Amino acid sequence: MSGSTSKTRRKAFSRPYRVGRSRTGLGGFATRLIKKNELIDRYRGQMITTEEADKRDNRYMFEVNSKWTIDGSNRRNLARYFNHSCRPNAESDVKGHKVIIVAKRNIQPGEEITYDYGKDYFDIFLKPIGCKCDKCLEKRAKERAEKRAAAKAGKTAGKSASKTKASKAKTTRSKTAAAEARAAAADKKQVVKRGKTAASKAAASKAAKSKTKAKTAKTKTTKAKATTARSKVKQAAAGKSVSRKTKAVSRAKTSRKKT
Ligand SMILES: [Zn+2]
Repeated sequence: MSGSTSKTRRKAFSRPYRVGRSRTGLGGFATRLIKKNELIDRYRGQMITTEEADKRDNRYMFEVNSKWTIDGSNRRNLARYFNHSCRPNAESDVKGHKVIIVAKRNIQPGEEITYDYGKDYFDIFLKPIGCKCDKCLEKRAKERAEKRAAAKAGKTAGKSASKTKASKAKTTRSKTAAAEARAAAADKKQVVKRGKTAASKAAASKAAKSKTKAKTAKTKTTKAKATTARSKVKQAAAGKSVSRKTKAVSRAKTSRKKT
């Protein structure tokens, strides 16, 4: 980090972003030019042991190292609103026991601030529902265009009708599958942490693979409300998912509701 940044930090730190509507809910948006390597904010929260983190149930766990995790679910932790991107303009950095979000490049006013949540989070939460970051949306648009081009080529060969129908049916199916996967992920929301060194990946990915139930709890508020019910479902699905204690869950729930 540059000297000017630490000077800025010694003075009152003012956030260079605001929380606002994003493609996937809420996000953080630059309110001025943020220079490359500039500190954007700290990821704040209660420092808890990995053991405790495994008992809590929320998506705002940031793994600091194999022993410690920050529970960033409190709404005062505005850094929790930064969304994931596979082509991020910021990155998380662990400094001792602090987690900071730093600009990877110059970020223009109005631009959404994003960072990479790490492979574990991506595989468990985003892959099943389809990541909605710019990079992945572009990739999928390109794939669709290629499919259309291929279908067009097939049309001239006289196979148009059946091919178009088939590809339409496929789209519908994959949409349903995505909705189910999303619901299942929400349903089986296990402790998967942001950050690059997740420890409980084996158990977590195992649990994610065994998703079956389709529920419609999608929004963050609904998720919080449904937590207790879900943990019951989880217990019923014994062995398949990471075990979790209802008590710990409701504690986490209370702490999330404080603000
Ligand atoms: Zn992506």
